[in-house]
Amino acid sequence: MKKGLLIIISGPSGVGKGTIREYFMKDESLNLTYSISMTTRAPRAGEVNNVDYIFTDKAEFERQIKAGKLLEWAEFVGNYYGTPLEQVEKLRNEGKNVVLEIEVQGATQVREKCPDAITIFIIPPTMEELEKRIRGRKSEPEEVIQQRLAKAALEMKQISDYKYVVCNDDPELAADVIGLIVKRNSK
Ligand code: 5GP
Repeated sequence: MKKGLLIIISGPSGVGKGTIREYFMKDESLNLTYSISMTTRAPRAGEVNNVDYIFTDKAEFERQIKAGKLLEWAEFVGNYYGTPLEQVEKLRNEGKNVVLEIEVQGATQVREKCPDAITIFIIPPTMEELEKRIRGRKSEPEEVIQQRLAKAALEMKQISDYKYVVCNDDPELAADVIGLIVKRNSK
């Protein structure tokens, strides 16, 4: 069986990666599966353990790092985020195309380990619009919003590391473009 693709989706916090994902995951012909990340961040309202993230504490996360159980990991605005390796390998070996939704440092680590990964960067129509979206979430204090905005500006500088850049002006359209990218690379 042909091994599944590894698809990395990055882009600044608040750009709408999750919304776009909901759309393209609906297209069964793309044969996609989402890799659930592990994080030490507290769940947001409505987030479910083992669905949105595997929520854990710092000590357990550090144990996972030491045991080599993460494909990649990064610290982002005071919390750890990482991709469980075993799950990704198992799904790809079953022929599934695996989607990782990760920030830029993690993407760099995956690119080094898996040079054939398909890398996609999502950009906002403008940075003002991004700020509006981050504030619209109303889930974080001003200090964290400022940290996420500063991080977003830094992340935008990494665009050229990615093979594809997709603008999220309209999430359904952005999802269609990503679907097309997956189809072209599945041939
Ligand atoms: P949030 O707290 O908004 O859910 O996520 C913060 C950032 O961490 C986002 O850019 C998100 O894509 C990224 N992220 C989520 N899971 C992972 C992961 O497993 N590894 C890395 N490196 N970044 C992740």
